[in-house]
Amino acid sequence: MEARPDASLLATTQAGLEPFDLYRPETVEDAVKAMAAGRPPVCFYAGGTDIFAAFREGLRPGSLIWLDRLPGRGEIAVEHGRLTLGAGVTHMQAVAHPALDAVPGLADAWRRIATVRIRRHATLGGNLMARRPRYELSILLSALSARATLATASGRRDVPVESLWDLPRDEPALLLSVSVPLDGAPRLDYARDLRPTMTQALCLRDPGHDLPACRAVVATEYLQPFVADLAEGARLGLPDGFGDAIADPHWLARVSATQFTRQMERLAAR
Ligand SMILES: Cc1cc2nc3c(=O)[nH]c(=O)nc-3n(C[C@H](O)[C@H](O)[C@H](O)COP(=O)(O)OP(=O)(O)OC[C@H]3O[C@@H](n4cnc5c(N)ncnc54)[C@H](O)[C@@H]3O)c2cc1C
Repeated sequence: MEARPDASLLATTQAGLEPFDLYRPETVEDAVKAMAAGRPPVCFYAGGTDIFAAFREGLRPGSLIWLDRLPGRGEIAVEHGRLTLGAGVTHMQAVAHPALDAVPGLADAWRRIATVRIRRHATLGGNLMARRPRYELSILLSALSARATLATASGRRDVPVESLWDLPRDEPALLLSVSVPLDGAPRLDYARDLRPTMTQALCLRDPGHDLPACRAVVATEYLQPFVADLAEGARLGLPDGFGDAIADPHWLARVSATQFTRQMERLAAR
């Protein structure tokens, strides 16, 4: 809501946006220049399904960088032992692509995200970079030990997907792609039956490489996902007090342990 000079309240909508600068870069280099030169706050427009909600919540961009013209945004490929997904891949494009078969369980989990109307436009990049705990690709891709490639004013860098939560919100970073390492033949199970109260992803890999053989990610509607790497035979435990106003920590600990047992059974039966 916005407070008006006459002391009344007005619902915040995109109709109240002040004029902002619009950039439509055709190369990543030009996008980075726009990030450096643009009036803050600098925002990106990918599919537009989240940013309008952000406008209604009060986001007022100084600059908007339109990502549609950047090359390679929709690429999906398996090469050099990794499944790589461009940040502009939509939910619908991802699950229809045969490359996702490289990670059994990923397409099944991704297919359950959002509605048909949203899935046509909503992108991987927007889902991760909106950084809302209730969005699910952070949970799935963190479980898969995925890495994110970012372009920033100080150059390109690769970071674990779970560390995207820690990026400073006032320094624009353009997500270019995400890649999932395929060492150890990762397979994924996603427990979504209690969403939005809690969800849990579990990834198992064959041993013999540097990646965790068993990684679980637990999330609630309001909490940043918790990532746990487990030794063989270990049980999944949550940090003390991990819970929110809806998901009580004791309940969450019990449910998470039960989900974990079921997920191990499901993955063993595949
Ligand atoms: C009705 C509805 C139902 C939904 N249901 C689900 C659900 O069940 N599960 C789920 O996980 N999600 C759900 N979502 C969320 C949806 O998946 C996200 O809105 C979507 O993925 C955002 O992508 P976008 O391309 O539309 O992002 P945009 O709206 O274009 O951008 C969102 C944010 O991400 C930033 N951004 C976008 N791309 C990049 C980039 N490449 N680099 C840096 N920053 C970037 C923008 O600056 C902006 O802050 C739902 C959304 C709606 C509206």
